[in-house]
Amino acid sequence: MNSRTNYQKAIVDIYHRIKNEENVGEVASYIPELSKVDPDKFGVCLKTVDEEEFGIGDWQTKFSIQSISKVLSLSLAYKKLGDKLWKRVGVEPSGSSFNSLVQLETDNGIPRNPLINAGAMVICDLLISHCDDANSDLLDFIRKICVNNNITYSKSIANSEKSVGYRNAALCHFIKSFENLENDPTDVLDFYFNMCSIELTCQELTRTFMYLVNDKFRTADNEQILNVSQAKRINAILQTCGFYDESGEFSFRVGLPGKSGVGGGILAIHPNEYVIAVWSPKLNKKGNSNRGMKFLELFTTITTSSIF
Ligand code: GLU
Repeated sequence: MNSRTNYQKAIVDIYHRIKNEENVGEVASYIPELSKVDPDKFGVCLKTVDEEEFGIGDWQTKFSIQSISKVLSLSLAYKKLGDKLWKRVGVEPSGSSFNSLVQLETDNGIPRNPLINAGAMVICDLLISHCDDANSDLLDFIRKICVNNNITYSKSIANSEKSVGYRNAALCHFIKSFENLENDPTDVLDFYFNMCSIELTCQELTRTFMYLVNDKFRTADNEQILNVSQAKRINAILQTCGFYDESGEFSFRVGLPGKSGVGGGILAIHPNEYVIAVWSPKLNKKGNSNRGMKFLELFTTITTSSIF
């Protein structure tokens, strides 16, 4: 049985061990604004189901969560639409890169899952159709769960991505050509870029994702974010699709559901136990944080706390 002390000791030991090793990989630079980050940033935060929290390093520094935000938009859409959602997007791992156009052609514009860019765009489209104002409703949703009004979109990151977002624009228009978007692709893209530009700290990430760990989680006004079955399904998608075409590798090495982003963040969930966020901007060839993967592999191995 793991106690908080065991988790804390493991985090300190692994953090220092990795910090002393060479920091390999490349910071994402295809979005110009992301290349400005200090590559040596390294933070970790763990929050247990009992609301105990432990952080180390740069755990209270905001960073661009990028694709981790796709889990939040998916959760809001699932809450609003229920299982109707799955008519518009699948639940299969894609086995290809997050921004691939190829499968859409054979799949008639139905993205393989909601965590690749195409799938996240369909979710953005659904939110635009079902919210009064999707941009502010998504922020309100996150602020309420995290109990933090200080969460915003980063204009500079969103604009930077938009200025070079040719492939995402191609994806979005391609989906529209299959009639799997209700709204204008320009509006969907603007919302998608905003969503990806959200900045959170590791501490804020763990607070935000407690609803996927603890089925008793309620907001201050006693609202349940997802029911038990919905939370199970989101965790299942995170397990199989959360790490681009390295999802199998992450599952094999770490054994937890999770999601990464090209800002170098990784969020992982142990249902009924804890949520852990790691941030280190240098990525491996598949686009996942090198130190983040290594940290989590060591953490679940040393504490024997994976779901398997
Ligand atoms: N905004 C990024 C893109 O669409 C998200 C990439 C990611 O974190 O996976 O390229």
